[in-house]
Amino acid sequence: MPYNKDAVQNQYYKEPGPKLDKESPFESMMERFRFAADLLELDDGTFKTLAQPVRQISVSIPVVMDDGSIEVFEGIRVIHDNSLGPSKGGIRYAPDVTMDEVKALASWMTWKCAVVNVPFGGAKGAVRCNPRQLSVRELENVTRRYTAELLDVFGPDQDIPAPDMNTNEQVMGWIMDTYSMHARKAQTAVVTGKPLLLGGSKGRKEATGRGAVTLVLAALNKIGIMPGKATIAIQGFGNVGSVSAKLMYEQGARVIAISDVSGGYYNKQGIDISKAIEYRDKNNGSLEGFDGADKISNSELLELDCDVLIPAAKEDQINRKNAENIKAKIIVEGANGPITANADSILDDKGILIVPDILANAGGVTVSYFEWVQDRQGYFWTEERVNRRLNRMMKDAFDLIYKEKDRYNITLRQAAYVYAINKVARVLKMRGVYG
Ligand code: GLU
Repeated sequence: MPYNKDAVQNQYYKEPGPKLDKESPFESMMERFRFAADLLELDDGTFKTLAQPVRQISVSIPVVMDDGSIEVFEGIRVIHDNSLGPSKGGIRYAPDVTMDEVKALASWMTWKCAVVNVPFGGAKGAVRCNPRQLSVRELENVTRRYTAELLDVFGPDQDIPAPDMNTNEQVMGWIMDTYSMHARKAQTAVVTGKPLLLGGSKGRKEATGRGAVTLVLAALNKIGIMPGKATIAIQGFGNVGSVSAKLMYEQGARVIAISDVSGGYYNKQGIDISKAIEYRDKNNGSLEGFDGADKISNSELLELDCDVLIPAAKEDQINRKNAENIKAKIIVEGANGPITANADSILDDKGILIVPDILANAGGVTVSYFEWVQDRQGYFWTEERVNRRLNRMMKDAFDLIYKEKDRYNITLRQAAYVYAINKVARVLKMRGVYG
């Protein structure tokens, strides 16, 4: 049966109420999904299958706190799709995380893996907690109990977590250990983004930023700006933002603004990024008080006149309220979902070239895939090999999606969704429906 837009959309997402709020990450994802479904004339059944995650799990995580009291946190794991291989996606720790957000992030992982042609499905996990208020021991207990509650979900052939917001190599190490203790043997391939000593991959930590920079260069090339002449503004100075800043700085670009939770830092002449990183590392991970630049707000940073803007902080940063004020020529989405769906057309009308998240930040999961391959082979690559293959896969994906964009005369974001959804839909068709 051909895809009946109105029937399916009414059934799922066109009903009145909070679901209509396009500022929600899930609705933003669905808005773009619907566009691609229309263009591909996706059939009803496939639309319905892909509009919902295959599993949504919520678990209670009781933890004995340092003062002896018991606190209970909510843990979430959403598996959006696992038709191409094990599902893959990070785990974030945040006080305000919701099931809606994790569902969107899990779907984005499916599309992201499809765009870079990595044989994984999509998933995402979260624990609703404030990691800044937890001691290291409490954080370890939260992580171990979360893993224990999901022992039958995780697995090297089933579902493979990775770092995301507020989780790091150490957290991945605890997941690997907890899972391995239950399996009665070391199971390195159950999680990626691990410390090198525990079967991690060289280059994994920098991979998302490195991949994003490959695409900044590809996009600059498309509009005829030399990297050495480009001005860059970067929101967020975590793993993705600071690595992108450092690599662009090494390319000779002028990074005129950076930011973190303490605010934005602006210097028209360009910021010395190695100094900024050194300052942050000595200053408890914060740029607060960095004096190589003038202080601006995070929203002022987004609206700066620059060639490239890299939002590498969190969702919903560019929305219908500020989209009109964005002046960058290129936006490369380092974060997941930094632009809401209802800002898309405003930015497109301004002629801004947007490299969408499911392409721009796919470097992380690409090297996660390399890590999983290395763990399973027991053969580890040099950093040079990891970076070379990462570069090639990112560049190939960019060229592929750019061709789709030209072929249908649509935006790069729409092209990425069309390519990814078409690929997963074809897989579902070939496998058929069991039962
Ligand atoms: N959390 C990262 C992302 O959003 C990495 C996921 C992974 O490597 O599995 O892409």
